[in-house]
Amino acid sequence: MSLVVNTVSAKTSENTPDSLQKQTANVTFAQLGLSPKIVKALEAQGYTSPTPIQVEAIPAVIAGRDLLAAAQTGTGKTAGFTLPILELLSRVDFSRVNHKAKIRTLILTPTRELASQVEESVRTYGQHLDVKSLVIFGGVNINPQKDKLNRRVDILVATPGRLLDHIGQKTIDLSGVDTLVLDEADRMLDMGFIRDIRRILPLLPKTRQNLLFSATFSQEIKTLAAGILNDPVYIEVAKQNAPAELVSQVVHPVDREKKRALLEHLITTNRWEQVLVFARTKHGSNRLAEQLDNAGISAMAIHGNKSQAARERALSEFKAGRLRVLVATDIAARGIDIDQLPHVVNYELPNTPEDYVHRIGRTGRAGSEGEACSLVCIDELGLLANIEKLMKRKLEQRVIKGFEVDPKIRAEPLRKPQVARPPRNPRSNLGGAAKPAGQKPKPQGTSPHSGHANHAGQRRRSSGSGS
Ligand code: AMP
Repeated sequence: MSLVVNTVSAKTSENTPDSLQKQTANVTFAQLGLSPKIVKALEAQGYTSPTPIQVEAIPAVIAGRDLLAAAQTGTGKTAGFTLPILELLSRVDFSRVNHKAKIRTLILTPTRELASQVEESVRTYGQHLDVKSLVIFGGVNINPQKDKLNRRVDILVATPGRLLDHIGQKTIDLSGVDTLVLDEADRMLDMGFIRDIRRILPLLPKTRQNLLFSATFSQEIKTLAAGILNDPVYIEVAKQNAPAELVSQVVHPVDREKKRALLEHLITTNRWEQVLVFARTKHGSNRLAEQLDNAGISAMAIHGNKSQAARERALSEFKAGRLRVLVATDIAARGIDIDQLPHVVNYELPNTPEDYVHRIGRTGRAGSEGEACSLVCIDELGLLANIEKLMKRKLEQRVIKGFEVDPKIRAEPLRKPQVARPPRNPRSNLGGAAKPAGQKPKPQGTSPHSGHANHAGQRRRSSGSGS
């Protein structure tokens, strides 16, 4: 796989080096090859200029190239692939093609939230075009999706499991797919979707354009990319620098038992109106949301155990400003797209430092400034050290008066993350590609898991599987 390396910066702040500032500030969407109907939709969204990843990705995709992009949410990556795809589709004369049930673009995402948001972006940016899109994911009745798949769909956004359900029931035709997007590929692998993806790939036409987006590049992602991409353009955005410069980050050292009181104190004294709070477990996030709500701070939790309807309700209440606090687990929060979310709180640190970067990426998006604070107890100091290593700097520590750490409290081990993905029906009749020889079996999903192994009260409260 030969790579054309285009390394760009994700930053658009005044800290951006002059050369890059010029690169993005002087380019218009029209100059990238987007037609007036798309530009009009972007203007309506208030987008004045493309972000660095868009500057690189849009012309490359329009030129028909495969793409390997190291980018995470907050960089404008969704528009980076949806805009050129819409542009290419807008050039198709649908009155001359038999489009019945022929899906042209397949976008795979790890979560239903992300799938919904990607499809919403497609609708927004394509509102003046004759392009039809559909989103399908699990956890909801499959039958209405079957009806919709019978009609014209140009762009399908799907989670892998539900797509396989349709494939198994022969309610989907992928023979017309000429563009494949794997969005947040690293997260798809983390969630155990590799086998699903390997089953889906052979069902697509061999000649097609492939775009792969991933925040991190493990060996497994590289192997996947090498097997799918054909002479890709490689785009990398400066992921670790972007949040560090756009988001102010602070650590509040606090004893584990005082975290909730400290959170309430921070929200009320600072008069935060919109706060996204990260907890590590479903159970823990439920309990925290309930306690905040009881304390008069309106809060709801979203995580994998909630129904799709409940998750969407919580998200829309939060987006509408009727809910002050949204408590989320890492996986549930993936892809949550809330413009100008000013405050992110790490109630508990994540097990992997990359998740910390994702979390704080929820604020300070597309150039706006944000603030992320982490409530860190003695048990989490190892996790904090890993985060600081990844960020390549020490985070500022600020003790809040009245919440000073009690030096008598000893550290207790955090439980190792457990893998917990609901078992799925084997789909052995689907005839996908076999796993490459020698590849190690991958745990089915990762599930950040908190809890203190020997601190009885704490353990009871924070047990339960992750998102
Ligand atoms: P994403 O990285 O795709 O999750 O996008 C992050 C946020 O940036 C979303 O809220 C987009 O609506 C917004 N966005 C994307 N492109 C632009 C742009 N060129 N100008 C301003 N905002 C943008």
